[in-house]
Amino acid sequence: MATVRVAAYAGACYGVERALEKAFAAARDAQGPVHTLGPLIHNPLVVSDLEASGVDVVESVDDVSDGTVIVRTHGVVPQVIDAARAKGLNVIDATCPYVKKVHHAARRLVADGCQLIVVGEAGHPEVEGILGAAGEGAVVVQTPADLTQIDLAQKVGVVVQTTQTASALSDVVAAIAPRVSELHVVNTICEATSERQRAAAELADTCDCMVVVGGKNSANTRRLAQICAERCDNTHHIEDADELEDAWFATSQNIGVTAGASTPSSHIHRTCERIQAILERS
Ligand code: SF4
Repeated sequence: MATVRVAAYAGACYGVERALEKAFAAARDAQGPVHTLGPLIHNPLVVSDLEASGVDVVESVDDVSDGTVIVRTHGVVPQVIDAARAKGLNVIDATCPYVKKVHHAARRLVADGCQLIVVGEAGHPEVEGILGAAGEGAVVVQTPADLTQIDLAQKVGVVVQTTQTASALSDVVAAIAPRVSELHVVNTICEATSERQRAAAELADTCDCMVVVGGKNSANTRRLAQICAERCDNTHHIEDADELEDAWFATSQNIGVTAGASTPSSHIHRTCERIQAILERS
């Protein structure tokens, strides 16, 4: 009989679990309508579950006249929360505490007189929130090449978007160091992404079929699928257990399952149960 194993780190991270708990609790307990500012996570099934519980998605506080707004894990610029409160809305802040840590570090470095460099993806909502927390003058760079156009102050502080890699941070830091006299680096990378990637690679190396569960619009889930496909030809990215096909398991002895940081553990369990059912009837 074939075996089914789940990666050592798989599925919803701490920040996503926490945001989901807050959103479903709001759906149950809040007075009036409940909205999330943007989709709570990149997982269409979860977003439709929330909608079925009465939590809809709005793009902006401007679209809301009453009730509750939920800030998602990436966070927002402080002005958005101020605007929501000024309208009399109830605000539930589900910003991940690790993202809040970046905001605090950014503010501290700026208060200490540093020019702030944020290593990350320009335009990403998390990076926008960090810039908003830091105030005027902070700059986003993703690679050392981005620094060539920037006049650096003599005292520079660096923080990093939680999902960046350690090598992206160290490349930028190495390029800044020779150009300044004082450099303060706060490593704000969250390990949840790299733990899931390492665990997926380890499992895929030993499997002849890999199933990756999570939103097709989730960048971190797509990256897991890519890592698995590089190691196991028989890799399949699904959003829902209904997409599983018997043929994938016909000759497989070692089946691995992993899931992105925006996939609830219930989706992993349902997938494993369905695979077991397929194996038992074949
Ligand atoms: S990946 Fe890390 S920083 Fe992002 S929500 Fe999850 S725990 Fe928080």
